[in-house]
Amino acid sequence: MSATTTTPRESRRALGAGLRATAKVLPEHARAHNRALLLQHLFHAGPTSRADLARATALTRVTVSDLVSVLLAEGLVEELGVRPGRRVGKPATLVGMRTDAYQVVAVDLSDEAVVRGAVLTLAGEVVVRRSLAVDERSGDDLVDLLTRFARRLLSAATRPVIGVGVGSPGVVDPWGRVVEAPNRAWSDLPLAALLSERLGLPVQVANDADTAALGEYTYGGAAGSMLVLTVGQGVGAGIVVDGARVHGAGDAAGELGHVTVVDDGEPCACGRRGCLETVLSAPALRRAVAGLDAAEADAALAAAGRVLGAALAPVVSALNLAEVLLCGPPELLDGALRRAATDTLRERTMPAVGAGLRLRMAALGGDVVLAGAAVLVLAAQLGIS
Ligand SMILES: [Zn+2]
Repeated sequence: MSATTTTPRESRRALGAGLRATAKVLPEHARAHNRALLLQHLFHAGPTSRADLARATALTRVTVSDLVSVLLAEGLVEELGVRPGRRVGKPATLVGMRTDAYQVVAVDLSDEAVVRGAVLTLAGEVVVRRSLAVDERSGDDLVDLLTRFARRLLSAATRPVIGVGVGSPGVVDPWGRVVEAPNRAWSDLPLAALLSERLGLPVQVANDADTAALGEYTYGGAAGSMLVLTVGQGVGAGIVVDGARVHGAGDAAGELGHVTVVDDGEPCACGRRGCLETVLSAPALRRAVAGLDAAEADAALAAAGRVLGAALAPVVSALNLAEVLLCGPPELLDGALRRAATDTLRERTMPAVGAGLRLRMAALGGDVVLAGAAVLVLAAQLGIS
């Protein structure tokens, strides 16, 4: 390979390492990057004058004006009149992103029984919502079902759709290939490429917990270094560090559910014993509190919380996370369990790590994977996250 050739993985690192574009880059990527810089600023800061865009992005006024002209022609931004002026001279025209002009189709595959989907605006507002029973389909049958479901969502959209995002269980590589999702009988399945060919649109696929983390990061106001722990049938985690999603060497970063936390514990679906999932999954927690009075149930949930805190302490310390977000049934997670996990985390980490740490419930609730699937599309198509 010549020195100037980059593999897809290398180019992903070069362009996609930081979710939120913050600075100028090399000339060959400059135009796309600078365009993303402007959209990113408008998305998060709202309507801005060209002069303030130039100041915020460190681009020249000429570059900003050229890019804004292109974005106006594409219908992605609009001029919003003048800001009430305090300064003398010509008042500045504000430019704003048209978050209602285009839509995104998002699909959540995290529930084994139901496929959930939505059409969303670029601002993450749900326009249309649909769901469909899986009826125990798996393998190719599930891909066919997913294709039909995505077509239904696309036909329900009320504006042009810029892409389709899917949050899937299992290990998923950066190109949307499902490396392994045993419960869906998917192995080495190029899901994004297959769906893209069938639907005629760009399709992004990522692990559901990673997708949840992106949803909380972009739409839920989560910190730039944080972990989202998803608690459902299983336990998973998505991690963002310094504003970039953590993929890991085998794209399996965040697979905390099968870390052993109890020696000789309960048998786990993975074939081993005492995994975090055997203590913390929603069914395991429900079993732990079944038939108990309120005080006993709190004690059982606190015990699970201490196990969680002990499992998270090295992760939180290694990455110096600002927040851990719990995503799952609040009646199980948001009480004695969360308090005990917080106390254990503080006890087991040095103050520089633990003192400022927040362990809280995810802000987006049941829509978190759908929101994150929309962010997959925003990030891929517009450079926004
Ligand atoms: Zn396991």
